[in-house]
Amino acid sequence: MAKNYYDILGVEKKASQEEVKKAFRKLAQKHHPDKGGNEATFKEITEAYSVLSDDRKRREYDSYGQTFAGGAGPGPGGFDPSQYGGFGQGGVEFDLNDIFEGFGDIFGGGQRGSRVKRGRDISIDIEISFKESIQGVARSVLLTKVSACDTCDGSGAKPGTDMDTCKACNGNGKVHETRNSPLGSFTSVRACSECDGVGKIPKEKCATCSGRGVVRKEEEIKIQIPAGIDAGEMIRLTGAGEAIKGGVAGDLYIKVHVKPHDVFKKDGVNLRMQLPVKLTDALLGSTVSVTTIDDKVIEVKVPAMDKTEEILRVKGKGVAYGSGTGDLLIHVSVAMPKKLSGKAKKAIEDLQNEGL
Ligand SMILES: [Zn+2]
Ligand SMILES: [Zn+2]
Repeated sequence: MAKNYYDILGVEKKASQEEVKKAFRKLAQKHHPDKGGNEATFKEITEAYSVLSDDRKRREYDSYGQTFAGGAGPGPGGFDPSQYGGFGQGGVEFDLNDIFEGFGDIFGGGQRGSRVKRGRDISIDIEISFKESIQGVARSVLLTKVSACDTCDGSGAKPGTDMDTCKACNGNGKVHETRNSPLGSFTSVRACSECDGVGKIPKEKCATCSGRGVVRKEEEIKIQIPAGIDAGEMIRLTGAGEAIKGGVAGDLYIKVHVKPHDVFKKDGVNLRMQLPVKLTDALLGSTVSVTTIDDKVIEVKVPAMDKTEEILRVKGKGVAYGSGTGDLLIHVSVAMPKKLSGKAKKAIEDLQNEGL
């Protein structure tokens, strides 16, 4: 991934949550658009903080350079937005006021309820082979979505021109609305529709996006599917959803479907396979060639069996995970002969006479 969230926040990779929070606070104060800061920079530090402040997302980011939603996939009903929070409806990742609690006066008198606008999330489906699910694979997809305009960097202004303060909201980006009802009057705050909550209006509009700051276009998205992913698992790419003017981009959710394998089945970090052996091999023991998931042919020693099924363990031929690799568990079973020749039958009758 191109962005280094640690560099963006200027913290060490081993920084504590407290240090991450402190660094974010400092940068957010400096770059907040309400304080005349650069909006793109603010978005970037907000995105970095949303990942590094969340233990799970941070772990995923450390391991894969991106974040996943993790956990089991949703049921047969398909994608369940409620599991992931804030899906689709421009929900928020977090409330800035939660972070600035006790620092309320920083942004003009401690106004409550100013939330970071978020673009729409997108969900897509990807199918990979069983082997790819075990070993991990890189995929790229073409997505047509609302993205920040490259010409104006999302500001909506013609490059090189200035911005005017929005008259509708006096540059606050927010408008207060008072409604009277029989129960009393209610005041609500909403994002200013004139400036999309930015507080500034371009003096001259960007020609590419007509001042909207966003354009609908096709984008190639690279997705690194981690080794050991389960069928139905969801990957989340933070900020790869739809862009929104004056806010942070939504997320991209990728539901991963895995084609079943003819031989192997996944069981946690282990792989399981069936291996029928001839009756005589089962009784006397034998050596059998087995092709592993990484296409290596290995010789497996099947000992003389004293029961009809035996499980053999081949270490390190399972699923790779963080610090190691699981095992291959071979379920050896006895394949009974389909047809007995007269001679074979005679030999077995001899065994029968021996009481076997
Ligand atoms: Zn533009
Ligand atoms: Zn405005």
